[in-house]
Amino acid sequence: MSTITKNESGLKTLGYAAPALGKPLAPYSFERRAPRADDVVIDIKFCGICHSDIHQVRDEWGGSTFPMVPGHEIAGVVSAVGSDVTKFKVGDHVGIGCFVDSARTGDPSKDDNLEQYASTTVFTYNSKDKDGSTTMGGYSDKIVVNERHVLRIPENLPLDAAAPLLCAGITLYSPLKHWGAGPGKKVAIVGMGGLGHMGVKLAHAMGADVTVLSQSLSKQEDGKRLGADHYYATSDRATFKNLASSFDLILCTVSAQLDWSKYLGLLKVDGTMVLLGIPDQPVPLGAFPLVGGRRNLAGSMIGSIAETQEMLDFCGKHNIVSDIEKIDASYVNEVYDRVVKSDVRYRFVIDMASLGAK
Ligand code: NAP
Ligand code: ZN
Repeated sequence: MSTITKNESGLKTLGYAAPALGKPLAPYSFERRAPRADDVVIDIKFCGICHSDIHQVRDEWGGSTFPMVPGHEIAGVVSAVGSDVTKFKVGDHVGIGCFVDSARTGDPSKDDNLEQYASTTVFTYNSKDKDGSTTMGGYSDKIVVNERHVLRIPENLPLDAAAPLLCAGITLYSPLKHWGAGPGKKVAIVGMGGLGHMGVKLAHAMGADVTVLSQSLSKQEDGKRLGADHYYATSDRATFKNLASSFDLILCTVSAQLDWSKYLGLLKVDGTMVLLGIPDQPVPLGAFPLVGGRRNLAGSMIGSIAETQEMLDFCGKHNIVSDIEKIDASYVNEVYDRVVKSDVRYRFVIDMASLGAK
């Protein structure tokens, strides 16, 4: 086994970075921190492309810093472990999701399983690390992360298609669990892209009655194959009339500005619509659909480390992975434009073996 010894120097890393705002992503060499005793070094094999990568590279949410190596749907193999690491060994299949550090009190009960909402959480890229450096994400050939933030990927799941579980998977799993999706519950997924298609698979596996609300019927066959019981086009005005007061739970994965009031009208009394997609501008909202049905509008962000592991184990048990299109790193700029045009079936995943290739 390769065990890290003290005072090892930083690790030379090859990645793909946005060098500055408005510039295309290009190959980029940098150094990862020298691994510490509680660190795991991961040989990254695949990284999914989340729409959040695009928002941040294009600084649509503000506060982006460059150069930026995006990527928080990371799947790979452990290549070395620090001397204090107990949970992982060289060769293990592992993943890294949206954060690489959080408040570590040493008391698991204090973390409350909601690290993703803590102000001290360090995100996987475009975030200040505890040592003051800027974190660099998964469009790269290796990463160094303390073992508490490393997830185990079940051996029966292929690493390439499992990568998107680390963000798209947990982002849908967490609200489905929190709002009680299961047998007897009617769940609608708005938008069938990277997040949405995972929502369909997960809600179906939990036993809910699943409806997709997509812009058109063009992906209807896929939706049914993935586990949807019903599929409707939101471009058809009859959809909103026919489905009024139908759902217990609506998960909205769309980042474009939708008329949320219309969607709220599709909830039953006491139903909840959860925002997962993040528009860059405020969205006007009428009070009537909320008041006139004691309905709830909520939001949800990824999930905790414990819940992410629970989700991965659930996916291992039910053989759930993402439907992916694997790409070379050099194709990433084109792919960003395709995602923005909703031309994605259903997640692009970068094959890191292509990183050094011309
Ligand atoms: P995606 O693959 O681009 O999927 C978004 C889907 O939204 C599209 O496939 C499309 O589905 C629908 N859509 C796009 N433009 C639309 C429009 N103008 N009107 C109506 N529907 C439209 O993106 P993603 O990776 O799933 O991410 C979606 C959003 O979630 C992004 O804002 C991302 O930043 C955010 N996100 C949030 C979290 C969280 O923790 N809350 C985590 C990850 C990502 P149809 O073609 O089926 O209509
Ligand atoms: Zn993401």
